[in-house]
Amino acid sequence: MQTEGVDARRAVEALKELAELTGGPDGARRVAWTETWTEARQWLRAKLEEVEGISEIETDEAGNLWATAPGEREDAVLLGGHIDSVPNGGWLDGCLNTIAALEVMRVLAPQQRGVTLRLVDWADEEGARFGRSLFGSGAAATTLKPDDVRNLKDRDGVALPDALAENGVDLDRVNEAAGQLETAIAYLELHIEQGPVLERMDLPMGVVLGTFGVERHAVRFAGQHAHSGSTPMDVRRDAFIAAARSAIEFRNDAAGRDDVRATTGFVNVSPAIVTAFNGWCEMSLDQRALDEEVLLDMLKKAKEASEGIAEEEGASVEWERLWQIEPIPFNDELIDLAEEAINEVAGESHRLPSGPLHDAAEMARIMPTVMLFVKSLRGLSHTKEEDTPEEDLELSVRALHRLAQKTMEWAGK
Ligand SMILES: [Zn+2]
Repeated sequence: MQTEGVDARRAVEALKELAELTGGPDGARRVAWTETWTEARQWLRAKLEEVEGISEIETDEAGNLWATAPGEREDAVLLGGHIDSVPNGGWLDGCLNTIAALEVMRVLAPQQRGVTLRLVDWADEEGARFGRSLFGSGAAATTLKPDDVRNLKDRDGVALPDALAENGVDLDRVNEAAGQLETAIAYLELHIEQGPVLERMDLPMGVVLGTFGVERHAVRFAGQHAHSGSTPMDVRRDAFIAAARSAIEFRNDAAGRDDVRATTGFVNVSPAIVTAFNGWCEMSLDQRALDEEVLLDMLKKAKEASEGIAEEEGASVEWERLWQIEPIPFNDELIDLAEEAINEVAGESHRLPSGPLHDAAEMARIMPTVMLFVKSLRGLSHTKEEDTPEEDLELSVRALHRLAQKTMEWAGK
């Protein structure tokens, strides 16, 4: 196996160059379907054109940019990222993998290979302008349908189909991008963690096991509000207290399990005055887990807890599902290869789930997929404060190179 050649320092310099070109004092400005994004894409395309062994660079029907280095067979290993950012975003989210993949292509594209190697820069991963994230990868995976997004408008009232048309994309044809995946056999993505886990463990890198499933509900308690002076404590039907006690139960249940989340985000009460306790309270509960059965058990326990507490407080409770997505686990064999790759360059690795969704989640529905995470300082992302030590960025580029080599070997078996 060839292990030299990847110039991780050059990738870090390229990240800085891109930040200089498309960022400002408030952070990155590469919002998809804008001029700055187009500039970033042109910059990337120019770099890809220099790479020996890349025979074709094309944009598909959903606006995704593809660079292909053909092998003896059409079977393709994909390296994916997104050069788009949120407004006032960081210098690494998304573009790290696009640029790391460019560096890996520089080394691997000129070599004799059995499998084909392709870089994909997904269009509009962030959904920053129109509110629909994973646009390009979702279109290629056909989980995004044109009618789901046809009526979306940006803040200035520009309709999504018009913005797409300006970028040469016909909304009614975006699912034709699925054709790009016909030869794909594996998908690899490197990303910053965007959370605090690796930094707290003092590790530069980890292997991502998959993306969390989510159960998101509104939980509504109804009792009877009454005067805060005239109503003795033992006869109150206080909906807020029922909600508060339930929220603590939800938190404790999650805290007692491995690597799951439970969050109460919003809380509303009525009548919300100082001279009465509340007869009505609604709150949100967002539960996340990588294992479908664990997630269902968390939901069941939460419902039971809320019903028991509501009864004790003389209130009733109702649940309404706001949103749900199933857990999307990554491929076990590729997880092992990713762990080997990290161990080889960083000495130690850690397996962790991903809280945020990524383009890799769309690809994992279709083909063997894995992601590498590199540490985020202070767990910050989607802000100009987003950062990772440069030596860790270099490690991550080298780990992606190793993983690409291992995956090509695996694909050849
Ligand atoms: Zn991202």
